[in-house]
Amino acid sequence: MSRVYNFSAGPAALPLEVLDTIRDDIPDWQGAGMSVMEVSHRGKDFVALAARAEANLRDLLAIPDDYSVLFTQGGATMQMSMVPMNLVGPEDTVDYVVTGSWGKKAAGEARKFCNVNVAADASDQNFTYIPDESSWERSADAGYLHFTPNETIAGVEFHFLPSGDTPLVGDLSSTILSRPIDVSRYAVIYAGAQKNIGPAGLTVVIVRNDLLERAPASLPHLMTWRAYAESDSMTNTPPTFAWYVADLVFQYLQGIGGLGAMAAINERKAQKLYAAIDGSGFYSNPVNKACRSWMNVPFILADASLDTRFLDESAAAGLTNLKGHRSVGGMRASIYNAVPEAAIDALIDFMNEFERVNG
Ligand SMILES: *Cc1c(COP(=O)(O)O)cnc(C)c1O
Repeated sequence: MSRVYNFSAGPAALPLEVLDTIRDDIPDWQGAGMSVMEVSHRGKDFVALAARAEANLRDLLAIPDDYSVLFTQGGATMQMSMVPMNLVGPEDTVDYVVTGSWGKKAAGEARKFCNVNVAADASDQNFTYIPDESSWERSADAGYLHFTPNETIAGVEFHFLPSGDTPLVGDLSSTILSRPIDVSRYAVIYAGAQKNIGPAGLTVVIVRNDLLERAPASLPHLMTWRAYAESDSMTNTPPTFAWYVADLVFQYLQGIGGLGAMAAINERKAQKLYAAIDGSGFYSNPVNKACRSWMNVPFILADASLDTRFLDESAAAGLTNLKGHRSVGGMRASIYNAVPEAAIDALIDFMNEFERVNG
């Protein structure tokens, strides 16, 4: 077996320990004589798995009791629609802080359902910064404020939370579980699983219970958070395999000491990589230092004509999926929870050697 270091932005690396467990479990899960993919989601074994996954996630994130945890399908993108559908009506105004492509997409979707005020927009500098909060133009009576704590493409992360009483809605797809957060400061958190939680196909939504009542009765059943909350996310057949893997990932995180331990590792990984980039005359990261992401690190080469060589040689060295998003160019190393520190060390060694030969 040969494993590469996978720097993919998503679907992304999973812990090897989890993959080993999956392999062992596949033919005969917990003595069922069949795989977890083949059991009923309503059977007691799967119901127990679902309950354990939720309990572990609640513990990891210290989710208060007055929040529901929903396991849905449709990805983070479907939540970009479900957020306005569940929270506001056509006459309402909502605020969006757009610091990257995902926030822009979310605002565009919300426009179909309500009045959208873009309170801040960082597209004027190609999404390389977070506009100072004092410059945001917020509406007085916003139904909620939506922001993207980590913008996956440009690698821009909030290291603060927006102030005020407006209910905060956060798309945490690419930062959830990277460190402890204060869930009580949010009204709604949503995250596609395929970065830090598990396989694609599962989405986690954490919503304060009082907000479950807001959805109009006319909404399609599966578009209401209430339907998931009332059925333990089994209003129809859930993505059982993805849920099973998420349960293993939550257990793995508990095993390493929870999100405090994970945060220390992630911070060290990110600091090492940024230090290597900043310390070289050959690589650069365009993002304002105060809002650099711990999870997605874009960098460009001094000479873009070397991009192809960099990608070919890094892949040959077992460092894969480093190509940057086309809107940014250059490279991007996504260094989610499951990317080990050894991968960052190997990447830095490769970058130094590449610079020595080509710089
Ligand atoms: C990956 C990502 C998405 C898209 O997620 P899907 O599950 O594919 O819909 C949305 N927002 C952010 C911040 C992401 O990183």
